Amino acid sequence: MPEVLLANSTLTVTADDDIKIEAKMDLSALTLSTPGEKDLTELPVKSAETVLSSDDEGKVTDVQREEERLWTSEGKGPRPWKLYKADEVPDWLRERFILTGYRAYTTYVQNWRSIFRWHNETLNIHTHLIALIATAAAANALVMRLEPNADVWDRTVFSAYIAGAAFCFGASTLFHTHFPNSPEAFHTYCSLDTSGVSVLIMASTTIICYHFFYCQPVVRAVYIGLIIAANSVGILGPLWRAWTTPGFRSLRVAVFLGSAVLSCVPVFHYLIAYGFPPAGSWLLYAGLMVVFYLGGAFVYLMRFPERWSPGTFDYIGHSHTFWHCFIVAAAWSHYCCAIELHRWRVGGEYCAHP
Ligand SMILES: [Zn+2]
Repeated sequence: MPEVLLANSTLTVTADDDIKIEAKMDLSALTLSTPGEKDLTELPVKSAETVLSSDDEGKVTDVQREEERLWTSEGKGPRPWKLYKADEVPDWLRERFILTGYRAYTTYVQNWRSIFRWHNETLNIHTHLIALIATAAAANALVMRLEPNADVWDRTVFSAYIAGAAFCFGASTLFHTHFPNSPEAFHTYCSLDTSGVSVLIMASTTIICYHFFYCQPVVRAVYIGLIIAANSVGILGPLWRAWTTPGFRSLRVAVFLGSAVLSCVPVFHYLIAYGFPPAGSWLLYAGLMVVFYLGGAFVYLMRFPERWSPGTFDYIGHSHTFWHCFIVAAAWSHYCCAIELHRWRVGGEYCAHP
């Protein structure tokens, strides 16, 4: 008759004199539970940090253990097209309050096809893909809206802004299309997406500085130089894998805060020194842009509306889709604002403005 003995964290099973199995285990980790509904909204969620923390110093982390538990039945790697629930996917794929419609470990071919299939990222892809196609198709027309006496630098800064916006939309489209492929793909495309945000911030701030300080070339050069330097760190930093690890959190926050402050300083500098420029409806468009960015940040951070009804907005109408729409609206308002400043600038008497 086999004998089972549990003492001092050691489980001993003795079958007979020759067979004795000993297993040490951590009893502090042993919990008793009954089957029941798990609160899916409390599951860990995806982030570049959770993806990367899994292989820091080669340690097996809770993230990896959880992933192993979830995927041992089907194995990792490419699999037939199927959508999963939140508690069926690893946490690096999970979005808080989104309970169904997940893709996981898809091939790149499946990802491209998924642009035309229904899942919880379909509208996140479409919102920025449509913006990308519209921006590319209208690029020439957008530059042609400049006045006939626009010079080569006017055309250059507007072209750079349109290219920056297109890059941001394109990077975001690629991220939302391909991140379910693997943790490595998630990191690669998340980095590209982050760089795209910095590119748009750089292009947006440069075009405003260019017009506000057109008559002060030294001040303008200093501001634009600082803007390019700060945002270059934000653009190139994510290319290094370590950038998204917890150790670089302070630097990441510093770079984003620095570029945000740098976006505001030239504007306030000009307004305090020279007052509001009489440039058509620029203030209306600038106000709209601020409202769109703040509105986007609000729904993004509050996870509105899915927070109030988890599972209801999995496919249509969750916060990330709204966030994308607000970004597109803000980018369009910024372009309109810059066009107003341009018309004022080439309209004559510009440098006579006090
Ligand atoms: Zn996005």
